[in-house]
Amino acid sequence: MKQSYEISQEVQARLASLQHLLLDGRWQTASDGAVTSVFDPSSGRQISEAAAASEADAELAIAAARRSFDNASWTGLTPSARAKVLWRVADLLEEHGDEIAELEMLDAGKPYVGARHGEIPFAADCFRYYAGWCTKIEGSTKQLSTVPDQDFHIYTLREPVGVAALIVPWNGPLVQAAWKIAPALAAGCSVIVKPATQTPLSTVRLGELLIEAGIPDGVFNILLGSGRMVGDYLARHPGVDKVSFTGSTEVGKNIISAAKGNLKKVSLELGGKSPMIVFDDANLDEAISGAANAIFSNAGQVCVAGSRLYVQDTVYDRVVQGIAKIAQQMRVGPAYDVDSDMGPLISKAHLQDVKKHIEKGIAEGATIVAGGELLQNHTGYFLQPTVCVGVNHSMSLVKEEIFGPVLVCMPFSNTDDISAMANDSEFGLAASIWTRDIGKAHKTAAAIRAGIVWINTHGVPDMAVPFGGYKQSGWGRENGYESLLQYTELKSVVTKL
Ligand code: NAD
Repeated sequence: MKQSYEISQEVQARLASLQHLLLDGRWQTASDGAVTSVFDPSSGRQISEAAAASEADAELAIAAARRSFDNASWTGLTPSARAKVLWRVADLLEEHGDEIAELEMLDAGKPYVGARHGEIPFAADCFRYYAGWCTKIEGSTKQLSTVPDQDFHIYTLREPVGVAALIVPWNGPLVQAAWKIAPALAAGCSVIVKPATQTPLSTVRLGELLIEAGIPDGVFNILLGSGRMVGDYLARHPGVDKVSFTGSTEVGKNIISAAKGNLKKVSLELGGKSPMIVFDDANLDEAISGAANAIFSNAGQVCVAGSRLYVQDTVYDRVVQGIAKIAQQMRVGPAYDVDSDMGPLISKAHLQDVKKHIEKGIAEGATIVAGGELLQNHTGYFLQPTVCVGVNHSMSLVKEEIFGPVLVCMPFSNTDDISAMANDSEFGLAASIWTRDIGKAHKTAAAIRAGIVWINTHGVPDMAVPFGGYKQSGWGRENGYESLLQYTELKSVVTKL
C-alpha cells in the first residue's frame, strides 16, 4: 500500500495558508484569531489550519447576508443573470476538478478516483440543475368562490425565504454543501454556510469559485468552526430566517430547540439505519455486490448506507458468505492509493466510536464473520469492513446508526413480515429491495416507511430525485424542485377589481 503522497503544488500552497472565513465578500481571520487544525484521515497528520469563527464573526456574517438580501443585491438581478452565475460555478468546479478532488481526498479521506469522477461532476450537476430553476420559479392564479358578485384577480408568488444558514456534515463536504447552496441561491436567498469543523477545505475553494462566478458581496458567506458554538448561534439567531441542517439526529433535535425563538423555517437531513431486503428470487450476484457497495462505500460514512441486511432464509447463507468474501478481499488503505477499495474513517474519535459499537454488539451476542478489527499498521484511521450475524432487533448494533463499515445481517422466512421488520427502526431515510418479481418489489416499496426506496440497486442519487427522511431521519427533502420550495415562502395576493 502506498503510505505517502506527493501533494500537488497548488494544493500545497493552499494548505500552507490559513483557511479563512468569507464575510461580506472578504476573506478574513476569526476576529479573536482562533484557529483549528485540519487533519488528513489517511495519515492522521495535520495538513492545514482553519479560522474558527466566534459569535462576533457570526454576527458579521448574518448582518452581511441580511444587508445583501434587503438591498436585493442578488434578487435584483434577473433570473437569467442569477442562472448564469450558478452555471458558471458548475463550469469552474469542472475546470478545477483535479484540485478540488485532491482537497476532498486529503480532508475527508475520500478515495481520489471516486471524488474526481463522482463528487466533482455531481456537485457541478447540482449547480446546473438549480441554475435551470432560477427562470422557472412561478406562482399561479386562483378563483374566488366566497364573493360571487364581484370581480377579483388572485395570484400567488414564490418569494425567497430570506437569510438561510446552511449547516453541513463532514461525510460529503462538497456535495452536501452544493445540495444546499445551489437551491438556496436559485430561490434568491442570501446564505451563510457552516461546513463541519473537520472538513473546511472544499467549502473555502467553492467560496472562491462563487466569487469568481460573480456572486455579489454578502450573498454568500462562510463561517468555519465549531458546530456547538457557531452552528448553534446561527440556529438561534433571530436574523436568520431558515436553517437547513444535515447531520446527526441528536444535533438535529438541538437545532429544532434553537430555532424556535423566531420560528425560523427548519429542514433536517438526519441519520439512517437503512434496510436492504433480498428476496430469494433476486439476481443474487447483483444483490451481493450491491449490498457490499451499499455499506462499504465511503467506509460506511454515508447517511443512506445499507446497514441492515434482511435475506430470505433459503438464500441467506449464500448472500452473507458472498458479502463477507467481498469484505475480506477489500483493500483498505489511504485515500490517495489507487489500489484502496476503502479509505479511512474521518477521525480517531469516530474510529474508536465505531469500534466500541462493534465490541458492544459482540458483548450482546453478535458474531463477526468478516473484519471487526482496526488496521494497526497505519497512522490513519482505518477499520476492516465488518459483517455481523447472530443479531436481533433488541441489539444496539441493529438499532443505532454506526456510520461506519459495519453490516448486520438477519434472515427472514415470512415475506409478509419483512416490511414490518424493515420498518422497525426509529429512522426512515432509505431502503433497497432486491427481487425479480415486479409486483413484490412495488408492494414492498409501498409498505416501507422511508424517503427513498431503491429496487435492485442502492444509493443511486440524482439531482431530480428528492431525498430525505421519514420518522427521525428528518424534515423536508433535498434535491429536486421540492428542495427549492423549502427556500421559498408562498404569498397569495387577492385583488378586488
Ligand atoms: P453532526 O450532527 O455532529 O454535525 C453536522 C454539522 O452540524 C457540522 O457542521 C457540525 O459542526 C454542526 N453542529 C454540531 N453541533 C451543532 C449544534 N449544536 N448546533 C448547530 N450545529 C452543530 O454530524 P456529523 O458527525 O458531522 O455527520 C454525521 C451524521 O450526519 C450522521 O448521523 C449521518 O447520518 C448524518 N448525515 C445525514 C445525511 C442526510 O442527508 N440525511 C447526509 C449526511 C450525513
